Amino acid sequence: MELNAIKKPMPCVALLSEGLNMQYLTDAFNEACPGVDLRMGSDLGALEDIDVAVCWFPPHGLLAQLPNLRLVQSLAAGIDHIVADPDLPRQLPLCRIVDTGMAAGMKAYVSWAVVQHHRGMKAYVASSAAGQWQEQDIVSPRRHRVGIAGLGTLGMACAESLASIGYPVRGWSRSAKDALPDGVTGFHGNDQLDAFLSGCDTLVCLLPLTPQTQGFLNAGLFAKLPRGAHLINVGRGDHLVEADLLPALESGQLSAATLDAFSQEPLPQDHPFWGNARILITPHIATRTDRLVIAQQTLANLASLQQGQRPVNLVDLARGY
Ligand code: NAP
Repeated sequence: MELNAIKKPMPCVALLSEGLNMQYLTDAFNEACPGVDLRMGSDLGALEDIDVAVCWFPPHGLLAQLPNLRLVQSLAAGIDHIVADPDLPRQLPLCRIVDTGMAAGMKAYVSWAVVQHHRGMKAYVASSAAGQWQEQDIVSPRRHRVGIAGLGTLGMACAESLASIGYPVRGWSRSAKDALPDGVTGFHGNDQLDAFLSGCDTLVCLLPLTPQTQGFLNAGLFAKLPRGAHLINVGRGDHLVEADLLPALESGQLSAATLDAFSQEPLPQDHPFWGNARILITPHIATRTDRLVIAQQTLANLASLQQGQRPVNLVDLARGY
């Protein structure tokens, strides 16, 4: 879609977030569309000017106050932070970002998370610091099964990467998949969940956060994993019932957890996860969306809508992702 297809002289884009300083997107929008009318912060000017809202946890109720809004654009792959607004104008198109760069970042993070635990890399960091030449047991990746809950854009990319370095990979999704990469076995639906879980030496959560997936990672699920499994959560914090994690680690049902997303972010300083030797915490950095991609997809989607065409990466609100 050509950006000059936008009919107004300049599109008016509101950058809306309760916690994030959206100033960081200014240069990218100006590069994608020099002269674009950008609004952010507490003074949005005349609300009727705003064509599109780019959102990360937008203040509840604000989107409903924009009379000429045509598009709600998530700046991320997920849209849970937008549909949490009880006043979201659900008749408007809501789009998310899908981008090969974001998938590449997630592949790198998940591969690292799997390998660092499976190969005992923490022990090498310690022995290196202590000046010790100390080998750890090497278990072939062929003997370490990795399961990915959520076999969508990001999950499929991670599945392919892990299979390419020798891990037997299984994926779980809502619907059956026709074609899967070599080395990847598919499971789908609640009926096949237990069979999927029983073969996950590492379980990676890459589900979207929906009413059906909230609290997915709980004590009952941990009990269905092989004893000593490693949990990687790169979905959302609310996928995990946090109170269930420490008992599962203490009992040995889980051997470790690598967590990138938390119910409350930043993770509060007094949170019991900090300092636990079995939990590796990263501050929601598994992957990031390129700023220019956000600007380009937003403006192209607006242009599509103005030409009566379907924007890309439109979310199915009935399905919830
Ligand atoms: P996606 O393409 O929409 O894929 C979602 C996958 O989850 C699909 O395979 C879908 O099944 C499956 N699914 C959804 N609901 C399910 C259910 N109830 N039961 C079983 N499977 C279900 O999403 P994506 O782009 O891969 O992104 C996934 C999530 O990653 C995002 O929503 C976001 O929360 C998270 N994320 C995190 C970071 C980070 O830095 N930590 C960065 C980006 C994204 P079908 O294939 O059958 O539809």
